[in-house]
Amino acid sequence: MDTDPGIICFQHCDSKVFCFELPEKCPVCLSPMANTVLPLPPLRIPYPFVRASQHSCCIVMKPTNGDFLNDYLNSKDLHIGVTSSKGLVVEYDKNGLQYDKASLWKQCLIVDGADESWSEIWDNTLRHVSSLTCWSSERYNEENFNCYNFVLKFLQELRYGALSAAAVSRTRFCESYIVPQTTTAGKYISLYRKLKKSGCVTHRISSKHTACNTLK
Ligand SMILES: [Zn+2]
Repeated sequence: MDTDPGIICFQHCDSKVFCFELPEKCPVCLSPMANTVLPLPPLRIPYPFVRASQHSCCIVMKPTNGDFLNDYLNSKDLHIGVTSSKGLVVEYDKNGLQYDKASLWKQCLIVDGADESWSEIWDNTLRHVSSLTCWSSERYNEENFNCYNFVLKFLQELRYGALSAAAVSRTRFCESYIVPQTTTAGKYISLYRKLKKSGCVTHRISSKHTACNTLK
């Protein structure tokens, strides 16, 4: 993944250290790293974001403007779309329905998706819902007729188990599918921004709130 900044975590002197590269000295005890054997090999923190084009038959989301790592503020600021079985993104915005602005979907979150056996039904439903005339730029309203309406309508028509059941209510869909994803991603984003500012983040292992644990 070319946008993965590659955050690593290692343990030293009763601390967990997060950084982009192994330092020469432990930032906590200042002893040279070359002199010590780490209790565990450094761990790469899983990068939560993906390229939409590599994930077919999925619901994908990204910040309305910019990217997650640098620009994301909160869930009010999210844009959502659907990928076809070929990984083409279909999304509804102020200009109407958009097809495959792939370059804008390089760092997104997967909300959920269907397994491969559903590809044909997924594509047919996507084609059908996209053909409805309501997705016009004139009808678009930032508050109450937007990207969510398109995705929820698609999911309702798809009749795909719990995912479609949640799609009858915007609130229910957000609580069950959006919030869990943005919460996990939010932890990664805040760690990334701290690292960008200070180079490393350290936690005493005795602390109950080590980011290594919460990120898993
Ligand atoms: Zn140390």
